[in-house]
Amino acid sequence: MVGTPQDGHVDPRRAIPRTDVLLRHPLLVEATRRLGHEIVKRAVVAAQQRARDGELGSDDVATAAAAALDLHERTLTTLRPVINATGVVLHTNIGRAPLTPAAREAIGRAAEYVDVELDLESGRRARRGRGTLAALRDEVPAAEDALVVNNGAAALVLATTALAAGREVLVSRGEMVEIGDGFRLPDLIASTGARLREVGTTNRTTVRDYADAIGPETAAILKVHPSNFRIEGFTSAATVPELADLARSHGLPLVVDIGSGLLRAEPLLPEEPDAATVLGQGATLVTSSGDKLLGGPQAGILLGAAGVVERLRRHPLARALRVDKLTLAALEATLRGGPTVVAASLHANPDALRARSARVAEAVGGRVVPSEGAVGGGGAPGVTLSGWAVALPESYAAHLRRADPAVLARVESALTLVDLRCVPVESDDVLIAAIQSVVGLLEGSS
Ligand SMILES: *Cc1c(COP(=O)(O)O)cnc(C)c1O
Repeated sequence: MVGTPQDGHVDPRRAIPRTDVLLRHPLLVEATRRLGHEIVKRAVVAAQQRARDGELGSDDVATAAAAALDLHERTLTTLRPVINATGVVLHTNIGRAPLTPAAREAIGRAAEYVDVELDLESGRRARRGRGTLAALRDEVPAAEDALVVNNGAAALVLATTALAAGREVLVSRGEMVEIGDGFRLPDLIASTGARLREVGTTNRTTVRDYADAIGPETAAILKVHPSNFRIEGFTSAATVPELADLARSHGLPLVVDIGSGLLRAEPLLPEEPDAATVLGQGATLVTSSGDKLLGGPQAGILLGAAGVVERLRRHPLARALRVDKLTLAALEATLRGGPTVVAASLHANPDALRARSARVAEAVGGRVVPSEGAVGGGGAPGVTLSGWAVALPESYAAHLRRADPAVLARVESALTLVDLRCVPVESDDVLIAAIQSVVGLLEGSS
C-alpha cells in the first residue's frame, strides 16, 4: 500500500481509475467504435501516466484520453490546411486548384462502393468513369471522345508513346519548355521512346519549318503552349489552323498541349488556349491538366478524334496512368457543378476585396494597399489581377505560415501582403484570428 493514512494524506495515484473502467466511459466507448480498441487503450494508458506524473487530476483522465484521441483523429493526415493569402490563384506548392463544394461531396460519396466500372441495369462491366467522360464531351462538343489520366504530364506521355514511340515528333524550338521543378518537355518525350525533332528557332518558327522536317519517320506534330513565359519582340509561331492543314495533308495527328485546362475561351485570359477553340481549328488531340484553370482535381485530360483517343485508351500504358474513382467523381462534379473556386478567385470583385481587406486591417492593425494577384500554376504569365491586400510588417510572413491554420501571404517591397482574392469570404474571421495570434505573439515578445 502506497498511501499513509496515519498522516491523513491519501496518495492521489490510488484514485486513478482502472483501464477497464475508463474504457467504459461513454466518450471512450464512442472513440473505440471509430478507432478500435488498440488505439483507444494506448491513449488511456498515456493519460493514466500523466495523472501518475501529477499532470492531470484523476477525475480528468477519461476526458484527457478523449481529447488526445480527438486530436489524433483530426491529424490522421499530416497535410495541414493553408489559407492562401498570396493572391496567386494556382500555386503548385499548396495543391493548385481548391475543389468546389460539389466536388468535395462527390469524393465523399465515391469513397464507398460505387458503379465506377459497372452497369447496374445489365449487371455487365461498363466503361470506367463514363459519366465523367460524358461531362467532358458535353463541355467540349468538338471532342468526339475523351480520356482522363493522372495528370497533364501523363496525358502527354500517353499521347507521344501511343502515337510516336520509335518514331519522330516535330516540336518548335520555341516550345522546348520546362514547366517547373525540373520537368522538361524534351526529357519527358525522350522517355517515351519517341524522338524529338526540333524545328525553327527559339523566337521564330513557321509552318514551313515543320513542312521541311516531315519525312518517313515523322509520326506526329506537337504544339505546346509555353504556359509560364512569354517571348516578346521579333517572334512568330505557326498557328493551330496552319499546323492542322499541314498535318492533315500528310495524314499525321496534330497534338496540342494547352496546359491549363481551359475548356472554353476565358475573356479574362485572351492568350490562354482552350480545348474547344483548338479542336475547332483542326487539332487531332488536345492534352491538359485538370487542376489548373479547369479548377478540378489533379488529372490529365485528353480530348479529340475518336480513333486516336481509342488508340490511347487501348495502349498498355493507359492502365498505369489511369485515375481512381475519387478523381473521376471530383472531375465530373467540377464539370457539372457550376462556377469553380478558381473562377471565383479570378473574377473576384475588386470593391468587395477592398471592403473585406478594410475589415481585416481594422481588426489586426494593418493598412489596405493595392495588390496585384496572378493566375500562377505556370499559367498566363503576363496577366495581373488587380485587387487589394492588408499590409503588415515583413517579419509577420514567417509567423503567419506557422500559425494555425497556416496563412500563406506574399512578401513584396519589404511588406507582408495578405491578399483576400483566394480566401473564401467565410474564412475571413478565421484569418483575422490567425493574424491576431501572430500580432499577440510578436507584441508579447517585444
Ligand atoms: C502544367 C503543364 C503540364 C504538366 O501538367 P501537370 O498536370 O502538372 O502534369 C504540361 N504542359 C503544359 C503546357 C503545362 O502548362
